[in-house]
Amino acid sequence: MSKQVSGSGQNEPSATVANKPKIIWLNVWVFILTTLVAVVGVPLYGYWVGYDIWHWVFLTIGIGICGMSITAGYHRLWSHKAYKANRFVRILYALGGALAVQNSALHWSSDHRLHHGHVDDNDKDPYSAKRGFWYSHMGWMLREYQAHRYSDYSNVKDLQQDPIVMWQHRNYLWLTLSLNFGLPIVLGWFYGDVLGMLLIVGFLRLVISHHTTFFINSLAHIWGKQTYTDKNTARDNGFLALLTYGEGYHNFHHLFQNDYRNGIRWWHFDPTKWLIKSLSWLKLASDLKRCDETKIEQAKATMLMQRNIHKITKKAHPKADELISKLKDEYELYCQKLSEYYAVKRDWVLSQKKQLQQQVDSHELFEHYQNWRRQLKDYRKHWLGVNRQLLAV
Ligand SMILES: [Zn+2]
Ligand SMILES: [Zn+2]
Repeated sequence: MSKQVSGSGQNEPSATVANKPKIIWLNVWVFILTTLVAVVGVPLYGYWVGYDIWHWVFLTIGIGICGMSITAGYHRLWSHKAYKANRFVRILYALGGALAVQNSALHWSSDHRLHHGHVDDNDKDPYSAKRGFWYSHMGWMLREYQAHRYSDYSNVKDLQQDPIVMWQHRNYLWLTLSLNFGLPIVLGWFYGDVLGMLLIVGFLRLVISHHTTFFINSLAHIWGKQTYTDKNTARDNGFLALLTYGEGYHNFHHLFQNDYRNGIRWWHFDPTKWLIKSLSWLKLASDLKRCDETKIEQAKATMLMQRNIHKITKKAHPKADELISKLKDEYELYCQKLSEYYAVKRDWVLSQKKQLQQQVDSHELFEHYQNWRRQLKDYRKHWLGVNRQLLAV
């Protein structure tokens, strides 16, 4: 068996079955059996015996617990340290993560930090999207592609200080087995249908939860817009956010990975963000990180400018140089206005905080802030209008 890892991806025409890394049969069988039970056993049992409302209620709850333990716990808390959570919440995440059968939080976070550090690098990114949909979705778990680093946890030394992370890591196997079989069996015993609950809350829940979270590594690197950066394959996709507990805004996430939000607008569907915010209101989470708004807006403007310069160049317009130069000037002006606006906003927010403590009247500053808000709205319109005009020339 070859231990060769480097360059053995689908995009390497020279890779043959003989030099492909060893198959991880345990993973292969877990995926095959759970999928078979979910797509064959579940409908057959439904046809012959049937399910009631409680099967679907607990399926929904189970999917939510698994998904959010991965996105809010494994991902935003442990991998990215986007906020802090108290012990009780961390224990729930550790249990929910074991129920989701996605390896321990320590291992998952180590993989994920490598993904961010070496995104799209076929040799170093554990689930590089450049190796194609199948590889980034599931294929990377089916062979020993990176066996040399399976027990190298040097990039998660901070997490090794968390006793809950280490407890879950040491006890992962029995936790996973007892939760995945124990919970459905207890529910089934209570509702008088052990087999039905095992099928729905055990198997179907696991398969749905697997694929919805796997979409973040696969589809969220293939389908959607590159709103903030085109330096990697990550995409923003509102529809995917519906399936992935808010992680569909993946282009934003790759550029601003320490932000506790992935969908930054209030209307962006990001239940993980809402969960974290709610936990902070309940004093169960703290230090929620948000990236600098100026940098976020500037990244967006940079992408728009680059796209439009590309379009103008492609059109081979006789005045292309002039149009591009005008666009660049407008971009500089817009970035300057953004900096000024957010500086004023920061002052106002700070004064609001101070006001709460000292009861200082900040009416004048508020007016100033409102004034700037209106002005920026006009500048933004102007900026987008210029882009449209220049393209229409
Ligand atoms: Zn990614
Ligand atoms: Zn991430």
